[in-house]
Amino acid sequence: MKRGRVWLVGAGPGDPGLLTLKGARAIQNCDVLLYDYLASQAIVDLAPPDCERIYVGKRAGTHSLTQDEITALTVKLALDGKRVVRLKGGDVFVFARGGEEAQALRNAGVPFEIVPGITSAIAVPAYAGIPVTHRDHNTSFSISTGHEDPLKGYTSLDYAKLANPKSTTIFLMAMATLPGIVGELRKNGLPDTTPVAIVREGTKPTQETLVGTIGTIVADVERARFAAPAVVVVGSVVNERESIRWFDRTAVFGKRVLVTRPANASAEFAQALWESGAEPILAPAITIGPPDDPAPAVAAVARVREYAWVVFTSRNGVDAFFDILGASGRDARAFGDAKVAAIGPKTAAALTAHGIRVDFVPDTYVNEAVAEGLATRTAPGERLLIFRAQEARDVLQDMLRAAGRTVDAVAAYKTRYVDDPDLRAKAERADIVTFTSASTVHGFVHNVEDAATLLAGKTVAAIGPITAAAARKLGIRVDVVADEFTVEGLLHALEGGATV
Ligand code: SAH
Repeated sequence: MKRGRVWLVGAGPGDPGLLTLKGARAIQNCDVLLYDYLASQAIVDLAPPDCERIYVGKRAGTHSLTQDEITALTVKLALDGKRVVRLKGGDVFVFARGGEEAQALRNAGVPFEIVPGITSAIAVPAYAGIPVTHRDHNTSFSISTGHEDPLKGYTSLDYAKLANPKSTTIFLMAMATLPGIVGELRKNGLPDTTPVAIVREGTKPTQETLVGTIGTIVADVERARFAAPAVVVVGSVVNERESIRWFDRTAVFGKRVLVTRPANASAEFAQALWESGAEPILAPAITIGPPDDPAPAVAAVARVREYAWVVFTSRNGVDAFFDILGASGRDARAFGDAKVAAIGPKTAAALTAHGIRVDFVPDTYVNEAVAEGLATRTAPGERLLIFRAQEARDVLQDMLRAAGRTVDAVAAYKTRYVDDPDLRAKAERADIVTFTSASTVHGFVHNVEDAATLLAGKTVAAIGPITAAAARKLGIRVDVVADEFTVEGLLHALEGGATV
């Protein structure tokens, strides 16, 4: 009989990068994932494809399971032999009823593990640049729930203690009850000048921060129509935001960034965008597949050791090469003494992952630079193999042939346009549209005929001059061109290091 087990996992406050390694492992190995509205999609997406995902809700006002129903469901699934992850926003035990769920599991004889999470109470202020303790301000802090409304005549909070200007007081779930809470703090002597910050949607691209004082904050919230979920921080540590503010001050913070590169190559870029406070919108405009005629690539791989140099102009070429090699039951030893060139660091890294130490990477990651570098590293008559995209420019082989080298250029893969009826709507939602190759531009225009018009009001960013030229040729204005032709370079350019 299969023994079920439950992991109560804290998902952290929103930024998927704040999930713990242990939490990620539990999700990657579960049969059933129970999650609520605070869980970010990127974390839910970590679950294996055959994992059953159950939304158990808990957003005020929407239909969802009651706490008892969630607990009963968790127990039942585990007794059925399932590995169940119950994902909770922030930490499992901070105002999250994890204690009750764990007790119910114990009573039902279900084994469980607790995977603590980063609580919003501390992390959300941190993302607003507010340290919950600071030697200049306080030696303690407290975390309270605001869900009891003092205006309704009941509260179990000791406001006489909380109204201490020398301590930091943090409230969760306090937006609906803020007037009552502030009233009690004032009544108990907390000065009107005490700073207050309210941070909503913390650690996410939608993070917003409102700073006021005990005297002003209720009116400030009303004016700004500031809504939950939010963390309220009361105390002079709030003043430190001025010097520590970091997450919400970058140029891409809060921006929605369209990622048009192929789905299988977008994860790294998407992650880097999240980490910069931007929201990636994945809208692959192209997909990479086999060339129309795979025979020349297969034949070239079979004879690879006969070449003096083998040249890879993208990671896709490396993937295609090793797919072919693997299919014939061989491995990296097939290269023999052939030297290997890569157009840039990503391509080189893909080769290194296969145990190939790359002999040459140019300083600028374009075909022209590869050709120049190889011309000085080879002698006339030497044979070179270029493993390239079917639709690639011929400049590399042309330059090398002109220099008297013998070149076999084979189509290793082909880029095809994606037909995505939603691509246009995704682009409309974006603030920034990124193109990471000329073919992403063409794939985009394939889906959005009036691309130049649609993009007119947005920031258009290209990974390099060739991609930018492809866009400009189609009448698309390009605002940002990376200096280093990688996704990191593109992000750096968007953050302000750009040349236009
Ligand atoms: N267990 C959670 C708290 C659950 S109570 C934790 O440890 O973080 C839900 C409350 O948490 C919300 O009403 C809000 O006050 C706070 N909260 C959770 N995530 C938040 C976020 N990303 N930004 C602001 N507040 C958040």
